[in-house]
Formats: sequence, C-alpha cells, structure tokens
Amino acid sequence: ALVKKLFLQGKVVTINQEIDFALAEEIAMEYDVICELEEKIDVIEELLKEEEEDASTLKPRPPVVCVMGHVDHGKTSLLDAIRKENVISGEAGGITQHIGAYVVDIKGEKITFLDTPGHEAFTSMRMRGAMSTDIAILVVAADDGVMPQTVEAINHAKAAKIPIIVAINKIDKPSANIERVKQELTEYELIPEDWGGDTIFVPVSAHTKEGIGTLLEMILLTAEVGELKENPDRKARGLVIEARLDKGKGPIATLLVQKGTLKVGDHIAVGSSYGKVRAMTDDKARKIRSAGPSTPVEILGLDNVPNAGDIFVATDNDKDARRFAETFISEGRERLIEQTKAKLSLEDLFTQIQAGDVKELNIIIKGDVQGSVEALKQSLLKLSNEEVVVKVIHGGVGAINESDVILASASNAIIIGFNVRPDHTAKEIADKEKVNVRLYRVIYNALDDVEAAMKGMLDPVF
Ligand code: GDP
Repeated sequence: ALVKKLFLQGKVVTINQEIDFALAEEIAMEYDVICELEEKIDVIEELLKEEEEDASTLKPRPPVVCVMGHVDHGKTSLLDAIRKENVISGEAGGITQHIGAYVVDIKGEKITFLDTPGHEAFTSMRMRGAMSTDIAILVVAADDGVMPQTVEAINHAKAAKIPIIVAINKIDKPSANIERVKQELTEYELIPEDWGGDTIFVPVSAHTKEGIGTLLEMILLTAEVGELKENPDRKARGLVIEARLDKGKGPIATLLVQKGTLKVGDHIAVGSSYGKVRAMTDDKARKIRSAGPSTPVEILGLDNVPNAGDIFVATDNDKDARRFAETFISEGRERLIEQTKAKLSLEDLFTQIQAGDVKELNIIIKGDVQGSVEALKQSLLKLSNEEVVVKVIHGGVGAINESDVILASASNAIIIGFNVRPDHTAKEIADKEKVNVRLYRVIYNALDDVEAAMKGMLDPVF
C-alpha cells in the first residue's frame, strides 16, 4: 500500500529501498503512526505482491469452478452427482473425503470444483482480495426458472468477470420447461448459442445424471478458451478453502494451490498462522508429496487454525514464515485487509476521481418495487461522464442483504436503498467492511446526491 501510494505521488520506490527521512516523516504523519509501520507494510507488500511470470515458465492448469444459483435449485445435488459420476468412471483407490474442494478427471483432463455452493462463499473470498474461481456454473431449476438468488449469482459472477455456464437442472421433472429458462435469462444478457448468443447452456439432471458428461466437457472447453496457465516451478501460494481443529492431529487446513508447487516439508505462512507442511492428502484421502496449480490439498503442521479466504505463501525458511504470521497478528488481520484496498464512499468520490483512482462508480440498487429500481437505474446510468462511468452492478427488490454487502465490498461499490433497509446481518457486515450504504425515500434525492458527489459538491452528512 505504501509503495503504491508513493508511486501515485510520482515517487518510484521499491520495497527494500530506503526513503529519506523527510518523506518518511510526511508519510508517517499521514498514516498517523511512527515509522516502524514501514517494516510491517513491507512484509505485507511482499506477501501480496504478484511477480510478473515469464511466459516460458507457464504451463496449462486445470480450471477452478464454483456452483451458484437459487436455493433448492440443486447446487449440492449437482456437486454430489459430478463427484460420484467421476468415481464410477473408474478412479482407482481412495474413498472421497469432503475437504471443501474436489478434482474430477476426464480422460486425463482435470477440473477442480469448490464444494461450498453459493455466490456468498465465492464473493467473500474475493472480498478478501483473493480470486478463487475461473468459471461459474449457474444452476437454474427447469421447473422454477429465474429467481432472486439466480440474479444475485449472475451479478456476482459478472462483477468478478468470470465466464458463466448455465446448467438447467431437474430436466427429469414433468414440469420442466427448458425454453422458459432460456427466455428468462436473455434478460440478463445470458443468451444461448443457438439463439445467437455466446453463453453455453447445458440441460442436466442431478438425479438421473443426464447431461452431466456434457456439462464437464463444456467446462473443459471454456477453460481451454481462457488459456489458464501458471508456473508450477516456483514457491507455492494460494488460498485457504476451509480449516478446522482436529483433537488428535491439530489444525487441519484445505489449501487451494494457485501458483507454484506445494511440497511436504515446505515452510508456509497462512494468514496469522505458520508452520511446516507435515503431511498432505488429496480429496480422495491419498497421501501425496507435492501439489501443483489448481490442486486442493489438506495439510497438517500449522500452529493455528487459519481463516477461510486467507492467502498462504510458501517461504524459504521458518523465520520468514513466522515473520509473515506475526505481522498479521500484530497489525490485526482486519486492518491489514483494509489497507490493501480503498473503500469507496460518495463523500470522497470526487477526490478519488480527481486522483484518477476511480474510473467507474459501481452501484447496487435495492428497492421496494421493481419499477423504482429500474427507474433509478436508468437515471443513474445517465449520469456517466468523461471522467467516470456509472455502473449498476446489481439491482433487485427486497431488503439490503448479506449478498449485496459482500458484493459491494468485493467490487468497491456503494449501495443505494430505496424505501428498503439493510437487514441485521447486512448492517453488521457493512459496518465492518465500511461499505457505504445510502437510504432514500425519494428517487430524486438519490440522483441528486450521486450527481453532487461526482462533482465534489456533496454536503457532508452528520
Ligand atoms: P441447493 O439448495 O441448490 O443446494 O439444492 P439441493 O441440491 O439441496 O436440492 C434441492 C432439492 O431438489 C432436493 O430435494 C433435491 O433432491 C432436488 N433435486 C436436485 N436436483 C434434482 C434433479 O435433477 N431432479 C429432481 N427431480 N430433483 C432434484
């Protein structure tokens, strides 16, 4: 954050470079801290920095896929069906175990599925600065069609800019209506290929297994187009998928390796925990010694239970691993996360626009009736000017919920509630994540505020 900040001021420094005292003092005043923070921020920069990979070191990696959709449309059933289908098709050895993610093998080509269905899980990770997924499977029940959480899921995937494959589920039901689902989804710019669009639709049944083979093929095809590549020959880094404490074995964490290769014996820092990989098992409970990009593994050897969504890095030695972990503890996880991203609010929008930090104003609208949500959306979009484009990344009817807030946090959006309020959970998360939630009873006032904010003329609220 510090390096970036200096860079924005036109001063190019590298992480290890010393800065002169006057500058240090200036920054220290700004951060309202003494200069020792510098060391701590260095550590975090180091932890979060993404080195540019030389193209020649990159090798194809499996896609990581998540399943989203409305409740009861069959996400869990579909994940189970895919896992079982793959076991039947003849993977030798190992009973499958639930570790939060699993891998299927289709004639030598792999796909990694995240086993926690739902867009909230997906976006919470993104909110922590971690991009976990390459492709979203949108499950829509053929007998029920597009429902509110279907729309949420679509907008979460769109905000993350990942491709969506539509799985129309429950086609075994007599009341299934595939054409109706296709028709309804055109409203959200998901248009089937046979209707001239570019979204893949696969009719499936988690019960009869019909269509599941095709769905897997379509995932591989989409992955191929995305040219997913990573360098396997470097120190590993990735994400915590889930973690728990086992009475006998101590902390157990499922990690998704994203870059490099994780090996037994590696020193790692995982959020505020650290340790040495003592043992590693895959999703089929087999002991393994190394895991490359896109592989989920369960590991033993951490000193503490980390949080889902934490980033892990393999380090050269025990000392570095401990240093990362200690920085997380001493600085407070939340504060560190906060420092890595700027939260948008209407009050400081103008300053951020002027600084060139904001080119898009992302807005989520919730209202009491569809008509006002739509009216507000259309008017807001018209406020776009040369400096900033107004985008409505999600809109819907009903109270502001948890999904809205995590989407806003992950996408640096503000939330406008029109004749609705945040529910209890949403309010709590919004406070914690510092998401700007603004409530209005008159459309004109909402428009007026956004317009004023864009011009730097918004009156502060007390
Ligand atoms: P989730 O809430 O999206 O995870 O949905 P579930 O997987 O729990 O499924 C909800 C209900 O739909 C359960 O009763 C399932 O048995 C049923 N279901 C799921 N997939 C199918 C399907 O392909 N056909 C039929 N007939 N029922 C299904």
